[in-house]
Amino acid sequence: MEHVFDRLSPEEKKRAEALGEEYISFLTEAKTEREAVEYFLKHLEGAGFVEGDSEKGFLNYKDKFLACWRQGERPLKEGLKIIVSHIDTPRLDLKLHPLFEEMDLAFLKTHYYGGIKKYHWVAIPLALHGIVVKKNGEKVKIVIGEEEKDPLFTICDLLPHLARKKQEEKKLGEAILAENLNLLIGGIPLEKSPKGKKEEKERVKKKILQLFKERYGIEEEDFTSAEIYAVPAGKARWVGLDKAFIGGYGQDDRICAFTSFKALLTTEKPKYPNLVIFMDREEIGSEGNTSAKSRIFEGLIYELLKKAKIDPTPDNFFEVMMRTKALSADVTAGIDPIYIEVHDKLNDAKLGYGVVITRYTGHGGKYMANEAHAEYVAYLRNIFEKNNVVYQIASMGKVDEGGGGTVSKYFASYGMDIVDIGPPLLSMHSTFEIAHIGDLYTTFKAFEAFLKS
Ligand code: MN
Ligand code: MN
Repeated sequence: MEHVFDRLSPEEKKRAEALGEEYISFLTEAKTEREAVEYFLKHLEGAGFVEGDSEKGFLNYKDKFLACWRQGERPLKEGLKIIVSHIDTPRLDLKLHPLFEEMDLAFLKTHYYGGIKKYHWVAIPLALHGIVVKKNGEKVKIVIGEEEKDPLFTICDLLPHLARKKQEEKKLGEAILAENLNLLIGGIPLEKSPKGKKEEKERVKKKILQLFKERYGIEEEDFTSAEIYAVPAGKARWVGLDKAFIGGYGQDDRICAFTSFKALLTTEKPKYPNLVIFMDREEIGSEGNTSAKSRIFEGLIYELLKKAKIDPTPDNFFEVMMRTKALSADVTAGIDPIYIEVHDKLNDAKLGYGVVITRYTGHGGKYMANEAHAEYVAYLRNIFEKNNVVYQIASMGKVDEGGGGTVSKYFASYGMDIVDIGPPLLSMHSTFEIAHIGDLYTTFKAFEAFLKS
């Protein structure tokens, strides 16, 4: 094992820092899967990619699944090089009927998405990101809480003085209840109507609805056809006096989305056709038609076969799939020395020691895991060593300590070789995740070496 900073030349250190700056603006700009797709589309156009093109093309499905490809020197029949990552992140979704008033305070109810620790989400600044689709199909984009002049939102927590029985004596997971994750959104009552003799009810809620109507043209019932998420407000930032780290929301898995996208753009003449995919719904088990479990990927390959004048028959499809090599680009847990007891020091990943090949995840006896074959791991080691990529090969946590899953098993079902790979994070799945700049840089280098080879 070697520290990335013992291996980088002074020029490479500068390149790593520049990549870090660009990554920070990406994280700041793209906090939802739709915003990530929007960001990539903007940069794809600049790089000469054309929707549906056979040479350098992309497919955007429902603004949540994006696939970008580039032809290689070798024909498609010999297989593809695929990198797949996910662009959804744990967050708080507004409920379908979110708005209520209690004691002259207005709140928005939420339903969390993905694996969160609920206590991370209270008493911090939150922004609202998303869309509202009106009955007539008109889409209203909403981002509130990111500009300096914007108001923001928060979920209030109980003061320590009164929290002893309600929180302090409880288990951590039970101290904050999902149904209590309500965003504070208003506290000024609507002006009383002049002739109103009878007591008007819920005037604070009415005032909030009036503001939504004035500013966004939306009615209360429009929330039923909306996707609005509460996410941590503010920018991603450098962390540490030495700027060793990048801190920000949603690095699982936008760090892999960003680095694989950059690698696609810099790989101008790949040997095999390149396909870089950004998927949705990974954090809830890859359900739905924009996820890895849907057959949208299969449909995409049929399209690419047709573009290459190959009949999209099952045998042609499987022939290409069995010759395809793929990376499931996703983050892993870095060893946190403060909680060393959950880790296997010998086998887990360390921050600053490069991109991590995670041969298997799963839990309790490799259950539900896609374990990459020895031959494929050796193949990747060879590529990385030839290209001077600093990498580590690791597992995640002690056996029987917990576990997790990625999209790799869904892609493996088509017959391709695939392994999980990505940088290690600290505070993974929190509202402020931490990545090491050296790992960001080597993740990009690894993806570039893979796509080119
Ligand atoms: Mn992930
Ligand atoms: Mn995750």
